[in-house]
Amino acid sequence: MGALSLSWETLELHTAQPFGIARWTHSVYPRTFVTFTQDGVRGQGEAAPNAFYGETRATVEGVLPLLSGALEDPWDWDGLGARLAARMPQGHPSARCALEMAAVDWCARAVGRPAWQLLGLSPLPLPESSYTVSIAALDDMRRQAREAAARGHRALKVKLGTDHDEAIVEALRGEAPGVALRVDANAAWTRPQARRMLDVLAAARAELVEQPLAAGDLEGHAALRGVSAVPIVADESLHHVGDVLALARAFDGVNLKLAKLGGPLQALRALRLARAAGLQVMMGCMIESSLGIAAAAALAGACDWADLDGALLLADDPYAGLEWTAGQLARPVGPGWGVERR
Ligand SMILES: [Mg+2]
Repeated sequence: MGALSLSWETLELHTAQPFGIARWTHSVYPRTFVTFTQDGVRGQGEAAPNAFYGETRATVEGVLPLLSGALEDPWDWDGLGARLAARMPQGHPSARCALEMAAVDWCARAVGRPAWQLLGLSPLPLPESSYTVSIAALDDMRRQAREAAARGHRALKVKLGTDHDEAIVEALRGEAPGVALRVDANAAWTRPQARRMLDVLAAARAELVEQPLAAGDLEGHAALRGVSAVPIVADESLHHVGDVLALARAFDGVNLKLAKLGGPLQALRALRLARAAGLQVMMGCMIESSLGIAAAAALAGACDWADLDGALLLADDPYAGLEWTAGQLARPVGPGWGVERR
């Protein structure tokens, strides 16, 4: 093989509206885009660092110079994890993700196929993605829900963890009676709060609730699950492929995100384990460009739920090629992840 090169640049992406969850509200998201080049073929990946998982722009940019040799043989996917581990300590999942994404993209482009085909995934339609209503004043949240439903979104996800969560759920259910309503507490509730909210969610016909309690509270989640009519899905409790089996006793499902698990190959391992353990699976995302979303979409056809609106919330998505009809994303057909830099 010819000489390889690895380069990267960080772009500050902006959401069209400030995006708020229980822990924070931001509108600027630094994302680092990695390009791996060999034999005239380019593979690309995206690092979407999240402070909750111990990463920042600085940690991503600091670790990437150590990693270029890890793509020495981009076809050796099984060995990639060991080569990354040899070059850096634990952690850095979004930096690992960018490298995994670049390796798979490179291989798929080298043979002119979509990455999902190279991963051996079925050409199933993707589940319809939810569209996120972010934490804001109640009237603003009503407006977000009304406008999303009018645009044709049939699944909304609402971020909770305020002092008026019950009012939010009731307002959104009233505003958009026909949509599937998914709720994400982002680990913000206490056990008694969560227990009370389960009744509110059941009455509002919520489709699922994500991460009601703190990440480490498996006992609390197991107890909630025992009395909940609404499926309970782990997000912040899942950091690593190795967590999946332990979560099966406390949750009904898991939310897989490439940037926290270390990339599409790790997410695919987590998906297989989750299925083996009888868990339902959501394919999720961070706020990230259409490159990161395309990689998540490659796996979403094998999942029960998709939550892939990260790039739809951006004002300045640097990648193009995904075709959305409201919340329905078409399978990318181009080579690799199927998106190109604008
Ligand atoms: Mg979540």
